[in-house]
Amino acid sequence: MKTIEPARLAGKSTEYADMLLLRFGEFTLKGKNRSRFEKTMLRHVKEIVKPYPMARLIKEYGRIYVELNGEPAGEMVEALAKVFGISSISPVKAVKPELEEIVEASLRFIEKVNPEPGTTFKVNARRVWKDFPHGSQEMNRLVSAPLLKTFPALSVDVRTPMLELRVEVREQYAYIFCENIPAVGGFPLGTNGKAMLLLSGGIDSPVAAWSSMRRGLEVECVHFFSYPYTSREARQKVIDLARVLSRYAGRIRLHLVPFTEVQTSFAGIGQDNLMITLMRRAMLRITTKLAEREGALALVTGESLGQVASQTLPSMNVIGRATDLPLLRPLVMMDKADIVELAKQIGTYDLSILPYEDCCTLFMPKSPTTNPNLRIIEKIEATLPGYAERLAEAVEAAVTVDITPYGNESPDDEADLISSAKEDWF
Ligand code: ATP
Ligand code: MG
Repeated sequence: MKTIEPARLAGKSTEYADMLLLRFGEFTLKGKNRSRFEKTMLRHVKEIVKPYPMARLIKEYGRIYVELNGEPAGEMVEALAKVFGISSISPVKAVKPELEEIVEASLRFIEKVNPEPGTTFKVNARRVWKDFPHGSQEMNRLVSAPLLKTFPALSVDVRTPMLELRVEVREQYAYIFCENIPAVGGFPLGTNGKAMLLLSGGIDSPVAAWSSMRRGLEVECVHFFSYPYTSREARQKVIDLARVLSRYAGRIRLHLVPFTEVQTSFAGIGQDNLMITLMRRAMLRITTKLAEREGALALVTGESLGQVASQTLPSMNVIGRATDLPLLRPLVMMDKADIVELAKQIGTYDLSILPYEDCCTLFMPKSPTTNPNLRIIEKIEATLPGYAERLAEAVEAAVTVDITPYGNESPDDEADLISSAKEDWF
C-alpha cells in the first residue's frame, strides 16, 4: 500500500489551516488516570504556546484544539510534536457548518496539497451534529464530487487511499483536515513518578533521560565531577545538556556531586582493573541517598548491554547490586547507531561529542574487568577506611541547580552552596 508520507505533505496543509488538532497517545487507555493525564497535557501545551500570544486553546474530551489566530502553524507544529503524550497533529480548517463552505474549504485544502497525478483519495465525513441536513454517507459524495471534477490527478479508493480528507461536522464548526503529522507520543510529563538519572557528558545518558521523560517520568539529574581533574568546560557541557533536556520538561533539577575524594580512595588498592566497577557502585550508592532525600523511586542510567567493559552482564550484575532501588536502563537493548540517531533528534548529540574529559575516562584502567567478582568487590569496600563517611560527605557537598530552557543558571549563582564545593573551580 502506498500512502503519502507525512514528510511530503508536512507544511502543505498547515498553510491553509487555522487550527491545530492535537490527539493524545496511548495513555487515553488508562481509564481512571485519564483526567489527571489530560490536565498535565494541557498545562504542558499551554507552556509551549506561551510565546504565541494570539493562540487559544480549546479542550475537548480526548483532544486539544489550538486556534492559531494568525500565529505560525508550521513553527507551532514543530514545537508541539515534541510534547510528550501527543500522538499526532492535524492542521485543521474550521468553517461554518454549511455545505457550500465545507466544499469550498475542501477545494482550497486539496489545492494546497497539490496532489500528483495518480493520487488515490477518499472523503471521510462524520456528522456529529445531528441537525445538519446531510448524513455522513451523503456528505462523502457531496464533497468528493466537486473535488474529482476540479482535480484530475485524483481518483477514488475507499479502502486504502493515499490521501484521506476528513470532514467533521459539529454544531459550532465543521472541521476539515487531511494530514496526520506524527508526534512523539508517550505519557504526559511526570505522570508516572520521579527517578534520579545519572547524567554523564556522553551520548547515552541524555538519551536515557529523554526516553524516561517520554514514559512520563520526572527525572532529576545527578552528575559526578572530579575537581581538579575534570575541567570547567566539562561541567558546563553537562549544564548545557541539562538545558536541552529542560526544553522537554520545562525545568530540570541537576545535582553536581564532587567525586574526587571517593575516587582517590580507590587509587591505593592496587586493583586498577576493578576501578570502574567500584566507581559505578559508589555513584549508585550516592544517587540512592539523593533519591531518598528527593523522594525518587528509581535510578536511571544510559547503560546499553555489551557496549563497554562495565556494561557486560556480569558487570551490570555486580554494579546493580549497589542499590536497592529499581535500576532502569532504557537503552539496554538498543544499538549504538539508533541511540546516536535519537541523540541527534533530541538535540543533545553535538554537545555530547565535545571532547571534555569525564571523571571516569580519567581514571580508566588499561584493562577494566568484564567479569567482576561481587564478593571481592564487597570486601574491598568493607575494608576501605572511612568509606561510608566519604560517600555521605559527597551527598552533603552536592550542589543543586534548577535549569530552565532559556535561563543561564549555573552553580555560580548559588553563592551559599559554592562554599561546600571547591571555591577555585566554581
Ligand atoms: P554515556 O554516553 O551516558 O556516558 P557510556 O556508554 O559512555 O554512557 P559509561 O561512561 O560507562 O557509558 O557510563 C555508563 C552510565 O553511567 C552512563 O550512561 C551514566 O548513566 C552513568 N555515568 C557515567 N559517568 C557518569 C558521571 N560522571 N556522572 C553521572 N553519571 C555517570
Ligand atoms: Mg560515558
